[in-house]
Amino acid sequence: QTISETGGVGTRILVFVRLRPMAKREKEAGSRCCVRIHNKRDVYLTEFATENDYLRLKRLRGRHFTFDASFPDSTTQQEVYTTTTAELVEGVLQGRNGSVFCYGATGAGKTYTMLGTVNHPGVMVLAIKDLFFKIRQRSCDGNHVVHLSYLEVYNETVRDLLSPGRPLVLREDKQGIMASGLTQYRAYSTDEVMALLQQGNLNRTTEPTRANETSSRSHAILQVVAEYKVREGGNLLSRVGKLSLIDLAGSERALATDQRTVRSLEGANINRSLLALSSCINALVEGKKHIPYRNSKLTQLLKDSLGGACNTVMIANISPSNLSFGETQNTLHWADRAK
Ligand code: ADP
Ligand code: MG
Repeated sequence: QTISETGGVGTRILVFVRLRPMAKREKEAGSRCCVRIHNKRDVYLTEFATENDYLRLKRLRGRHFTFDASFPDSTTQQEVYTTTTAELVEGVLQGRNGSVFCYGATGAGKTYTMLGTVNHPGVMVLAIKDLFFKIRQRSCDGNHVVHLSYLEVYNETVRDLLSPGRPLVLREDKQGIMASGLTQYRAYSTDEVMALLQQGNLNRTTEPTRANETSSRSHAILQVVAEYKVREGGNLLSRVGKLSLIDLAGSERALATDQRTVRSLEGANINRSLLALSSCINALVEGKKHIPYRNSKLTQLLKDSLGGACNTVMIANISPSNLSFGETQNTLHWADRAK
């Protein structure tokens, strides 16, 4: 926790940056690298791309950003998981909630980081694998049950990605906000999870104009709930922890619509969740008393998993190409404000 300028105690959010490798199509378009990562922390962004320009920038202490850690393009999925999320998985087993977000423009590497591929599974899969590993390590002292839910927020409509159908209604009860009818998939091992999540991702809403392409406006939320039950002297004790892993919608238009009047409902809605998340994070970081969770479906769903002691993690994904300079700059500024 940090003391804010206004004297309140703010939540500390861990902020990471991940640079992805240059894509073939970017190379073919003649793009150059405009991002350098130094000491696994400092991110230098420069429109000039030669090594000399970069060295000069460093000497001049040019525009640079510092995060809890910054991952160069050679970083493995396992390394990203271990640095950003492993501690939160440990927390879940102790009954704490947490959340990990991937933020960035479309194509910056959010889905790769969260879901990954069969050969390079991402944070979602590695977190569940690690959770089962940790449960097996301590299985002698209790009984753990793991449930998974995978849902989408698209245009302020919530859908079940494990059982697509009608939109889900959010209900609030004593335990918090619930998407009623949401599938709670009981997971017994890691093996089934990658296939389950890949299938779920296929159910994400596709852009009407670009069939078969996952929409850049959809937020995908995986919730992993671990319940630990143990009988102690006739009483059944239960401890529940929840980890939310979120592949956010593309951030490319979030700033644009923020400043203009809202024209289309669709434009308003993607940004409603993304903007509401920004507002909540800024309010948390500044130690404000009122956190505006109610402003969007995304923030309502995550109300019980944001804030608290070091349990919110942001991974900002960026492309190295100078063709994405503006988006990268916006993402770095956004991430900088979340610190
Ligand atoms: P987003 O979800 O932010 O739109 P993707 O995760 O789909 O972006 O990434 C865009 C492309 O770049 C995909 O083909 C993906 O496989 C590739 N990619 C992203 N990050 C990496 C990485 N760290 N290593 C290798 N390939 C990556
Ligand atoms: Mg994606």
